[in-house]
Amino acid sequence: MISVQEAKTLIKNHISPLKNKKVKLESSLGAVLAEDIYAPLDLPPFPQSSMDGYAFDLNGWKHGSPLRVTSVVAAGNTEDPPVKAGEAVRIFTGAPLPTSCNVVVKQENVNMFDDNILINQEEVSINENVRAPGSEITKGTLGLEAGFQMTPPAIGFLASMGIDTIEILPSPRVTILVTGDELVGPGTSLKRGQIYESNAKMLTAALSQLGITAIKVKHIHDQLEAHTKALKEALTDSDLVLFSGGISVGDYDFVAKANEEAGVKTIFHKIKQKPGKPLFFGMHGEIPVFGLPGNPASVMSCYYNYITLAIQQLTSRPCRPVVAFARLAGDYKKPEDMTHFLKGKFLQETVEILDGQESYRLNSFALANCLIEMETSKDFIAKGDWVKVHLINKNI
Ligand code: AMP
Ligand code: MG
Repeated sequence: MISVQEAKTLIKNHISPLKNKKVKLESSLGAVLAEDIYAPLDLPPFPQSSMDGYAFDLNGWKHGSPLRVTSVVAAGNTEDPPVKAGEAVRIFTGAPLPTSCNVVVKQENVNMFDDNILINQEEVSINENVRAPGSEITKGTLGLEAGFQMTPPAIGFLASMGIDTIEILPSPRVTILVTGDELVGPGTSLKRGQIYESNAKMLTAALSQLGITAIKVKHIHDQLEAHTKALKEALTDSDLVLFSGGISVGDYDFVAKANEEAGVKTIFHKIKQKPGKPLFFGMHGEIPVFGLPGNPASVMSCYYNYITLAIQQLTSRPCRPVVAFARLAGDYKKPEDMTHFLKGKFLQETVEILDGQESYRLNSFALANCLIEMETSKDFIAKGDWVKVHLINKNI
């Protein structure tokens, strides 16, 4: 059996980063940019009217003198009508300002008689109601930085620059294979021997917290062939496979055997830790496969300790719980040469061990804000000793 540290090193050494992906802009919501994006053009690309009104050349116009309206420019018009002194064009929001004009007066500030307008606004200044080319962003300047997480307005911003595809950081496709004939879904009344499934729900939620959306969950019967078949299938379209349950030594624990049959190379099986001793880790080519224990508290303990590390390796993005140190609020005894991870309540200076540490119980885990790591080499940790805590609700 290997130590916690050895297990972590093996995970780091075996899992390589996935490649960045090019995606269509419209399907990039929530994704993280892998590249800096520079504006490929000025925005707006041309001097643009920001009002419905009249455009003319301010030079050579005297306040109080009428202007004759000679043409019309609407949004989308490609013409550039010449506008001489004493003339104006009818213009609408978003329309290109004619080259010979340098101002737009909004229609509310104009009196019209026949083909002429008289401006009733006190002062008119140059470039009024004109959006200058490049006033939003100029060609060649940084629009969004690598590492930016795409939001709906960011998608709009890139779309407005004519950008169609972007390069994003990889997000693994994860398949969760849930073993256990005793498991049923919510809404079904429990028969004797049955329990409600919780591991896949927790894992899906935890993966979603990391921004992973491509998650498949499959329930498989406690039969070797079903395990092998589901695993082989998962290996065709996943970047990470997680088994839940079936990795211990019981007669219905087929995960290790199924991995062998599917050609997964075992990297380790069993760690000197509690909970989560049976944890399995194997590689199929570049695809990591984990056999998480079935007991729900062990699943989550292994998730925070090892699966987040695997995902960090795959994505090159930090996603591990933040580590802090605190003084233990009470004595703790354990066998030497075994790491214990305890559900705890971190209160800045101190950390309390919660009641109910057994691996089948989630009630204490639900209330915990950290996992306390009780060092391998010690068999007694005294009240007031410094301990390492993993803050499970805070990712770095
Ligand atoms: P196993 O490792 O398959 O022997 O499972 C260990 C314990 O965890 C058993 O009590 C199972 O009923 C329970 N268990 C396994 N899978 C799940 C699950 N997905 N949700 C809730 N409990 C589970
Ligand atoms: Mg089972």
